[in-house]
Amino acid sequence: MEGTSRSLPLYAPLALDPTGREHLAVLDAAAVLDDPAFGSAEVWQVGRSHPGTAELLAALGDRLATASVGLRLYALGSEDFLWSVMAAAHAAGLGRDEVRLACTGDPARRIRCVHCQHIGVAPLGRLDDTTVTCGGCGRRLTLRPHFSPRLGAYLGVAEPGGTP
Ligand SMILES: [Zn+2]
Repeated sequence: MEGTSRSLPLYAPLALDPTGREHLAVLDAAAVLDDPAFGSAEVWQVGRSHPGTAELLAALGDRLATASVGLRLYALGSEDFLWSVMAAAHAAGLGRDEVRLACTGDPARRIRCVHCQHIGVAPLGRLDDTTVTCGGCGRRLTLRPHFSPRLGAYLGVAEPGGTP
């Protein structure tokens, strides 16, 4: 999965990875995991197993730090949540192929303005017709299909000659 930083992250329908020996699924408050294949998986959810996203992510960091090889991590939720989980997984040294992401419910994209570096949030939609107003500099930004996993954000660029 090298090179994903240069393109849109792709979300496949969630499926249990048969090569994993342990399975941990983390869900945001709105996500639903109803696949019977996950019956034996450990499931954490914001608002159920943990009071909030921050608590879940903190516990996840601890859990991953001591996880054995063969753990597969699955994240279901908004794109913002997914990339927070991905950052925790990355910090714990998990490889991209040890993590599965499924974007569900209340989707939002983080967009980083290339002009002022402000990071804002826009509804998840078709990229090629999505424009947002930057909350930092007020420019109309067009989303570019360039995603930074490190920032968890897409690039937003003002069109040359566009109305500022
Ligand atoms: Zn801006």
